[in-house]
Parts: sequence; C-alpha cells; structure tokens
Amino acid sequence: MSDLIQKSASPSVIFLDAVHKIYHSGEVDVHAVRGVSLSIARGEFVAVMGASGSGKSTLMNMLGCLDRPTKGRYVLDGITVSELNRKQLSVLRNHKLGFVFQSFNLLARTSALENVELPMFYSNEFLPLRQQKESALKALEKVGLTDRASHHPSQLSGGQQQRVALARALVNEPEVILADEPTGNLDSRTSIEIMGVFQALNKAGITIVMVTHELDIASYCNRIIIMRDGEILSDEPNLNRHLATDELALLNQAERRVKLA
Ligand code: ADP
Ligand code: MG
Repeated sequence: MSDLIQKSASPSVIFLDAVHKIYHSGEVDVHAVRGVSLSIARGEFVAVMGASGSGKSTLMNMLGCLDRPTKGRYVLDGITVSELNRKQLSVLRNHKLGFVFQSFNLLARTSALENVELPMFYSNEFLPLRQQKESALKALEKVGLTDRASHHPSQLSGGQQQRVALARALVNEPEVILADEPTGNLDSRTSIEIMGVFQALNKAGITIVMVTHELDIASYCNRIIIMRDGEILSDEPNLNRHLATDELALLNQAERRVKLA
C-alpha cells in the first residue's frame, strides 16, 4: 500500500489516454465520455466547462477514482488507476485527492474543526488525536478560518462553509483538488473570495481541476477545457487570467465610492 501514497517524480499528475465511459444502465447504452486524452501537469489550475450532459461529472468521477473508465488508461501521480482494486483505490483517493462540491457536504452537528478532522479517521495511517487536531487547525489556517474552528456550519456563512469544506479537502495534503461547481451556491463576491483561496493554494503548489459553467469563474484558472458530447472540444491556456485579489480590491474601491456619494 505504501507505494500508493509515495509522491511520484512524473511531471504530469493526471494522465488520461483515450478514456471512455459507457453507462449500461437503461435500455440504451450512454457513451458519456468518448476517448478523452489529457495530461495535467503539477501546479496547473484547470477549469472544465461545457453544457449540461457533456460529460464533465463523469470525467471528474473518473479523475476522482470514484468510477472506473470502461476503456482507456488513467495514471494518477505515476500510478495506473485502472489496475487497482477497491481498497487500493480508496487509499489512493484518500491520500492524493481532495474533493470540493457545490453543496458543502458538512456535518451539521459538528464543529468546523471536527469536520476538517474527518478524512483523517478514514485514513489507514493512524495519527494521534493531538496531531489530527494540529493538522486540522493548519488546514483551517490555509483557508483563513482559524478563528471559526469551534463554530458549527449553521453559524457560518456560505463562503465560510465552503472554506471549511476546502480545509477538509486539504487536510491529508493531497496532490490534486477536484472541485465540482464549488461556487454554484455562492453570491458573486463570495465566489471571487473562494477563487482567491483557490489561487493562493495553487500558488503554493497544489494542482486544481474545477468544473464550472461560469466563464467569470473559469477566468481565474490557467487553462480552460471545454467538453461537448463526451469529447474535448477545446483545451487552451487562459492568457487573460484574472487575479481574485485585484478583483476584490476593485470591488472594495467601488463600494467605498458608492458610500461616499
Ligand atoms: P455533465 O456533468 O456535463 O452535466 P454528466 O457526466 O453528468 O454530464 O453526464 C453525461 C451523460 O451521461 C449524460 O447523457 C447523462 O445523462 C449520462 N449519465 C451520467 N451519469 C449516468 C449514470 N449513472 N447512468 C447512466 N447515464 C448517466
Ligand atoms: Mg455535472
């Protein structure tokens, strides 16, 4: 198992070679992903866009080792995922990946700190409780939420709840954050703040793959992939990347001007 959690020296963290996903659930087969080949290097911040039904979630589920390709090869941080059994997949998922969703998926009756500690209980290495708490506090610090550690989700704003979810995704120090519409439930200012946290984490070295259907949100990424009918329609660097800190400063300025007027 330990070879699964070692960091690899390969420059691409995610490598897909002609990956297909066919669902055989109903009367007709659904060919949701049709031969996607893709390489994502360490430190990239990638947006995945495309109309509803274009295969974004199916692709993310495969990247997240939650579902296996019907055909094709997936290599995550040097490890060929298609060859692993369920137990090995869950170990890999726990150590290499952090997940963030549109609905924050926090436990309601549990403090922010305890929510962040949760993935460590599922980890196969046992950490002493004191060390778990330290790691959770460190993750909360990375998302700027140290002062809310004892608050329950209902005592936090949407943006703060998403920060807790992000800290929970970070606590096992993953290589990649996979985010499916992380700003889907947030207002526009809070969305920019969350993109600010993503950009700071990315600058510190973490690779991020994020599904979004808002071009505004994709504009904070370094690379934009557009899917159509299960295929990659375009895959381009984002040459006009927005910086969340700049956007927030402009917003604050505009608000001050409104107040003075
Ligand atoms: P997106 O996230 O871009 O909206 P999805 O990946 O959810 O797209 O879906 C791609 C296609 O696969 C759609 O036609 C959808 O209906 C189908 N699909 C998704 N999940 C399943 C499933 N579990 N069983 C059968 N078909 C599915
Ligand atoms: Mg989807």
